[in-house]
Amino acid sequence: MALLEAIGLVKHFEVVTGGLFRRSRTALRAVDGVDLTIQSGETLGLVGESGCGKSTLGRLLIRLMPATSGQVVFDGTEIMTLDPKRLRAIRRGMQIVFQDPFGSLNPRMSVEQTVMEPLLIHGARHDATTRDAVTAMLDMVGLPTSARYRFPHEFSGGQRQRIGIARALILRPKLVICDEPVSALDVSVQAQIVNLLSDLQRELKLTYLFIAHDLGVVKHISTRVAVMYLGKVVEIADKRSLYARPSHPYTQALLASVPITHPSQRRRGAGARPRLTGDIPTALAPPSGCRFHTRCPHVMPVCRSQEPAMRLAGPNHHAACHLLAA
Ligand code: SF4
Repeated sequence: MALLEAIGLVKHFEVVTGGLFRRSRTALRAVDGVDLTIQSGETLGLVGESGCGKSTLGRLLIRLMPATSGQVVFDGTEIMTLDPKRLRAIRRGMQIVFQDPFGSLNPRMSVEQTVMEPLLIHGARHDATTRDAVTAMLDMVGLPTSARYRFPHEFSGGQRQRIGIARALILRPKLVICDEPVSALDVSVQAQIVNLLSDLQRELKLTYLFIAHDLGVVKHISTRVAVMYLGKVVEIADKRSLYARPSHPYTQALLASVPITHPSQRRRGAGARPRLTGDIPTALAPPSGCRFHTRCPHVMPVCRSQEPAMRLAGPNHHAACHLLAA
């Protein structure tokens, strides 16, 4: 059953370009027509390079910012047109874990105040029941009860991310947007946080959108994976299918950049895929046709003029590439 559905979601930011006498306003097309469904109980991995619009998309899905156009239906309710009061009520069910565990925590608030704040905002009293809920939440994320009176600067990066997770989960949401939750952490700590999120998902029956710039990070936690390029989803599939048979040349290049540690995979030639070269073009003036055509090793004349539609590439596997029509 779909918990969240995005339909034709667009977010353009108006940007002023040019010098003093040649100023003009241009649309930065951060998200440019995304259709996406997140099933209840799954983890949808959302992957792409920096600047592809994935974090903007994550924020749009829980309406942390207004969309330029399009709809988001969460748990049966269209949220883009909700009035503030109804939006606040529905927000209980959708929370976010941010990338920077230090920047997202108020340095003047203790752990107890930080984790308790969402409960108080949503009408709970500052009483023994609320404090017990904080204690239980700290225990769930692996922090000792003694942590409650301490402040963010007293913790390591991994522990601070545990505080951020506790704050996001204290309201027992249905959907959690995990916006690059391990990107700012040491490699040794990343696996601990991913494992914690997996355990909490099972325990609390959560649904995740897990955003990362690396296909290696989302591999273990995802049920399905969506790949985003320059404001659009270019491939979406069940995890096994996407990693075994990536259809879009961009996904193939992203996979090629994931370090291969297992010798048998190296023998199968997974490392022989073409690597990504050049920078992602600007979202102020995306390339015509297929947006990936300026970097694609398989580019054809049609790619420069016609935008490829999403096509079936296998069971539960879709990609937007003219090669699938050939
Ligand atoms: Fe490459 Fe053309 Fe496919 Fe785009 S549509 S990914 S340019 S082959």
